[in-house]
Amino acid sequence: MAASDTPPPKSHGRKSIRPSLKPRDLMGETPQLAHAWHAHLITLFPEAFPGVLGSSLTGKALKDGIWQLHTTNLREFGEGKHRNVDDTPAGGGAGMVLRPDVMGRAIEDAISRAPGPIVYLSPRGKRFDQAMARDWARLPGVTMICGRFEGVDQRVLDHYRVSEVSLGDFVLTGGEIAAQAMLDATIRLLPGVLGNAESAVEESHSNGLLEHPQYTRPAEWNGHRIPDVLLSGHHGDIAKWRHEASKELTKQRRPDLWDAYDE
Ligand code: SAH
Repeated sequence: MAASDTPPPKSHGRKSIRPSLKPRDLMGETPQLAHAWHAHLITLFPEAFPGVLGSSLTGKALKDGIWQLHTTNLREFGEGKHRNVDDTPAGGGAGMVLRPDVMGRAIEDAISRAPGPIVYLSPRGKRFDQAMARDWARLPGVTMICGRFEGVDQRVLDHYRVSEVSLGDFVLTGGEIAAQAMLDATIRLLPGVLGNAESAVEESHSNGLLEHPQYTRPAEWNGHRIPDVLLSGHHGDIAKWRHEASKELTKQRRPDLWDAYDE
């Protein structure tokens, strides 16, 4: 099927989202919002989106048009009556591989309407981190290919120079959860998503350190007290205590981060 024969991708926009709606109800056509950050997903499971991104701060930001969600359903580009998207691996072995011709058509469709780079979510990719989230947040958007089965035919990744990004050193059944995790980390950095109350300036990975421990009321719980300094009202002392606690925690838990910070 040619890309031009396929329906336009589904979009999720500010008009359409309420927490009570089911994902399907959110998939009305919406115009591209000029200033929105664009998340474009190529997936066999468009109904998985916005998923958890429809809740809380990211959900409000979607409703407010700070970011827009577009999905390209890979199935619509499949071969033949059954819209086949996969086939057995060349050389034999277990599982199925997503076909390059089918994925190629979906990528062409995405390129024609989505700004920003194309990445393939893959356990072989560069490890996603806060720096990557910051870089992505500065772009007009990102297109993400969610793999399934054994993954995607290598030729289509080479042809479109798709970079691979991993959520971590483990294997998921598909890219959709990885996409949502990376989108969450990126979207919360877009201007206007976090209020002052949820600043991204002083949190884990923002300055190379893990965050200090957090406490709230009651001041004493099960015999455990909040450290006195935090109740002292001395802002200088509190800041100093937090910075020291942050360093200590990082030293103990993440020697790799600590070494980089110490340099
Ligand atoms: N055979 C592949 C794994 C396929 S898992 C291998 O051994 O490398 C199926 C799909 O899940 C992948 O195509 C990818 O899109 C997604 N996926 C699995 N683990 C992932 C991870 N750690 N990060 C991002 N995506 C992942």
